Amino acid sequence: MSRSAISARDATSALGPAPDLTRLPLLLTRLKLTAIRDQLDSLLAEAARRELTLAETVAFLCEREIARKDERRIEMALGLARFPMVRDLAGYDFSAQPAVDPAQIRELATGRFIAHGEAVLLLGPPGVGKTHLSVGLGRAAILAGYSVLFTTATSLIAQLVKAHTEGRLEERLVHFSKPKLLIIDELGYLPVEPDAAHVLFQLVSRRYERGSILLTSNRAVSEWGQVFGDPVVATAILDRLLHHSHVLTIRGESYRLKEKRRAGLLGTAGPSSVAPSGASPVGAPRSKRIPAASSPGVNS
Ligand code: ADP
Ligand code: MG
Repeated sequence: MSRSAISARDATSALGPAPDLTRLPLLLTRLKLTAIRDQLDSLLAEAARRELTLAETVAFLCEREIARKDERRIEMALGLARFPMVRDLAGYDFSAQPAVDPAQIRELATGRFIAHGEAVLLLGPPGVGKTHLSVGLGRAAILAGYSVLFTTATSLIAQLVKAHTEGRLEERLVHFSKPKLLIIDELGYLPVEPDAAHVLFQLVSRRYERGSILLTSNRAVSEWGQVFGDPVVATAILDRLLHHSHVLTIRGESYRLKEKRRAGLLGTAGPSSVAPSGASPVGAPRSKRIPAASSPGVNS
């Protein structure tokens, strides 16, 4: 059979002509398989070197593509999350903070609480690692595939109030309702005006059972009536937050001050030498233990 006869047969056979290899980059681009496209030669060479079968080669190429997509997604999600500092759970010294149960943090790091739309409250005086843990849990959530947004309570409330006065509240509520996990840091450092408490309530109820909130506060839940200046709104917010929630109350002294003390900068005398598990040396109000905190895990 002549060569032209073969191509004529190919062109008319049910299988169609042999694929045009010069179009391969274009096809891969159209399928958004950019990792395979960019490294095709070296990936195929590696597959040949490892003597992979055709099916194994396809699996190998898919793995590389997925690894690149995951890397990109994580990089982008970390940027979108707007964490205020680079921290992870591996960098958290659990031995310095016996009030924090590593097993509970490991469980939260799986992201299951986000899948179930549960809330996490990290309570305790300044310096005990609330922000560190919230960033660490936020990172873990991103690695588990969830979108995360970090904000301080002050910034969140200011944005909601501003949007409210400009008639754009709905838009901002949508913005803060989108991420699967919203981290609200430092509630309670500043009192919340009644108007502000009301828009915050709207956000909390909108996210209720749909998305998770991780909230940190230096005030015990029993003091939130004062924080919001309105016990009714405080109760309404708490009602939704505590319904399905994990409450971690961190006691003890500031990690930074402890480090300084260890380095001999502050001397050894101080409240902590009198009451080892006790009050913060900066005189911060010690969080009262609220009933929900006594049983780690889901309190409903
Ligand atoms: P908080 O938010 O409770 O005021 P931070 O999370 O800001 O405290 O902690 C203050 C500093 O101390 C941060 O740099 C944090 O990384 C560090 N830190 C606090 N607790 C720990 C800990 N147990 N292990 C390691 N670093 C810690
Ligand atoms: Mg903090």
